Amino acid sequence: MTNPRDEGAPLWQDGWYAFARRLQSPNFSSRPAGAQTDLIVVHSISLPPGEYGGDEVQRLFTNTLDWHAHSAFKAIEGLTVSAHFYIRRGGELWQFVSCDDRAWHAGVSQYRGRANCNDDSIGIELEGVAGEPFEPAQYEAMAALCAVIAQRYDVQHVAGHEHIAPGRKRDPGAGFDWARLQADLGWPPAWFPAAAQA
Ligand SMILES: [Zn+2]
Repeated sequence: MTNPRDEGAPLWQDGWYAFARRLQSPNFSSRPAGAQTDLIVVHSISLPPGEYGGDEVQRLFTNTLDWHAHSAFKAIEGLTVSAHFYIRRGGELWQFVSCDDRAWHAGVSQYRGRANCNDDSIGIELEGVAGEPFEPAQYEAMAALCAVIAQRYDVQHVAGHEHIAPGRKRDPGAGFDWARLQADLGWPPAWFPAAAQA
């Protein structure tokens, strides 16, 4: 079997994953000195909400979205945001920010006793709608991605945006199967939100 990992191709280069489509976002900053990147934050996003397959999310993360193209964009006009990764309905993986840098996905947040989760987390956006189901291909891509992230970063927590900003955010919501992700990864239940341990 030929596996690129056996041929010396590095999986990571300066925080960029070799097997993601790379589209650099200007929306990032440096992590604070000494930041311990030990948290993966799961999000859901689609633009316009519930419409899949377009390039609006990539445009949002690169500040090239036409705010007037859809009435739903009014509510987010002028936002400068990003995530490290974006997984489409078919499992296609994009990366916008080096994992060594701080992407702007979490906002006001707190988890495992620490605030400002952007400082020391990696954000993964799933193409979807909060509360609705996600595709098998997305779980497969997600599990593979989490596993390679954990090869490079000392991950000890996986949580949803809803868990790090409760009351303010509700993604990825009840349609995301935490127990499935936990089982796919074989990571300790304690690394996941309580929902995964039910
Ligand atoms: Zn989110």
